[in-house]
Amino acid sequence: MALQWISGKIARKHVWSDGLFTLSVHCPGVSAFESGQFLQVGVETPEKHLHRPYSVASPHSETLDFFIVRVDGGELTPRLWSLEVGASIDVSAKATGGFTLSHTPEAETIWLLATGTGLAPYIAMLREQTIWERHKNVVLVHGVRYATDLAYLEELSQIKEEYGGRFHFIPVVSRAEVQGAISGRITTAMENGSLESIAENAMTPSNCAVMMCGNPQMLDDVEALLKDRGMLRHKKSAPGHVVVERYW
Ligand SMILES: Cc1cc2nc3c(=O)[nH]c(=O)nc-3n(C[C@H](O)[C@H](O)[C@H](O)COP(=O)(O)OP(=O)(O)OC[C@H]3O[C@@H](n4cnc5c(N)ncnc54)[C@H](O)[C@@H]3O)c2cc1C
Repeated sequence: MALQWISGKIARKHVWSDGLFTLSVHCPGVSAFESGQFLQVGVETPEKHLHRPYSVASPHSETLDFFIVRVDGGELTPRLWSLEVGASIDVSAKATGGFTLSHTPEAETIWLLATGTGLAPYIAMLREQTIWERHKNVVLVHGVRYATDLAYLEELSQIKEEYGGRFHFIPVVSRAEVQGAISGRITTAMENGSLESIAENAMTPSNCAVMMCGNPQMLDDVEALLKDRGMLRHKKSAPGHVVVERYW
């Protein structure tokens, strides 16, 4: 079915670091959606309408945030990066996707694992109450290469202040030593127990659900580790523990 487009306007552009940015797009008319879902975002080019899916990094409202990384050699993202406040940008009218809390099993603790811009859907979820009503503890793990890729730090520290011991944010930085962050990869931090020790929470089938989003290699590697712990993908037909969003 052909996509229906809404012509949006960039209301704000927040640059976190070179090539890493959040566009806030004023696009009233996008149908109500659940946090975690994605929209298509695009621009018209002389050749074609160029668009890609992006998780919405904010709950439904008239202005929606998209947390984007410029992919070198990518078709769309260098164009999105060059847009400034006031520019027009197309947004699909209807969000889709099952990477949402309502598609995630109930559990005392929810682990939210992200690499890079895979943080986007969690920012939307963390701005709403539902996650705190459904889960006693929330552990957010953000894997990046460099400290400058750690976006949304101020907002996350405010959530920490508000929810105290119910919320843990664990940055994992692979290519630099950063104070307060685990050095290395999410998979290593799972294998050596450092994630669980910082979160003061075990990652076991009896007490938790896991959402993970981002780089396909991380998703595959983590899924294999979770499988060893008896944690499998959650399906309607076969309840499990793990819900996944692949970005490519
Ligand atoms: C459901 C869904 C939600 C998504 N949400 C987001 C989001 O919130 N933010 C976001 O930045 N991207 C997101 N993506 C990825 C996005 O759709 C595009 O693939 C990405 O922006 C690259 O577009 P491009 O035209 O510049 O690159 P293309 O010319 O399409 O090249 C694609 C290649 O770029 C690489 N790539 C794609 N995404 C990334 C990335 N995030 N980081 C590093 N390399 C990448 C992969 O190698 C991929 O094969 C999402 C993808 C899916 C399927």
